[in-house]
Amino acid sequence: MTAHADPRRDAFDALVAWWREAGVDEVAPPPAPRAAPPPKRGKAPPPRPSLPPKAPPAADLSADARALAASCKTLDDLEKALAGFAAHPLHAAARNTVFARGDRDAAVMVIGEAPGREEDAQGKPFVGRSGQLLDKMFAAIDLTEAKGLYITNILNWRPPGNRSPNSDEIELCRPFIERHVALKKPKFIVLAGGVAAQTLLKTTTGIMRLRGRWAEVEAEGAAYPALPIFHPAFVLRRPVAKREVWADLLALEERLGDG
Ligand code: URA
Repeated sequence: MTAHADPRRDAFDALVAWWREAGVDEVAPPPAPRAAPPPKRGKAPPPRPSLPPKAPPAADLSADARALAASCKTLDDLEKALAGFAAHPLHAAARNTVFARGDRDAAVMVIGEAPGREEDAQGKPFVGRSGQLLDKMFAAIDLTEAKGLYITNILNWRPPGNRSPNSDEIELCRPFIERHVALKKPKFIVLAGGVAAQTLLKTTTGIMRLRGRWAEVEAEGAAYPALPIFHPAFVLRRPVAKREVWADLLALEERLGDG
């Protein structure tokens, strides 16, 4: 390992190397599509059972999501509302609704993508391997869940098998994450990974181009300075990305120091 002028950079390199050796957060491949059963010869198929009740149209669901989010006056209200929002397609398969962890008065709100297996089991965001790296990354600039750091995700339920969330699932969570930001009122937002950055910056530009460039997240009429960074799971897979993450953390530290 090369020695750097800033000893915190060495510490950061060391922890990335350590986590990499410990293994990476693998994203499970989507299940293979099942082959359709061969058509049966002979007998006519039995009559189809009556259809299940129709799901409400998506437009109704998103109106429900908006109304529910808007009705929340506190972070506790929002947490309860999300836990009860059984209409979200990811709710049923999840073991827990994953809301947030950390300091509710924190200046910095980190927003990731969606809970993984460990987060689903514990009901807390970023508690698996990439979450542990995230904690160490921010600890390097003195931000911890006890002081200065508040952590959540765009989606509050684990997509089955850790598949990527689809755009309907993301959009149905938008009113909640925007309300979350509006109630939390962070000084700065850190968008960890492409899904968080693209969703809240309303762009299709990829994280490779977005990272390290300050932007603004608009939530309920207010604008919050936001810094997209690489997702820690990506850093675990591509340790060379730690250089950019370190630069982005220093940029955040500087803004925090500016008051
Ligand atoms: N990845 C995320 O984006 N969020 C988590 O909570 C865990 C892993």
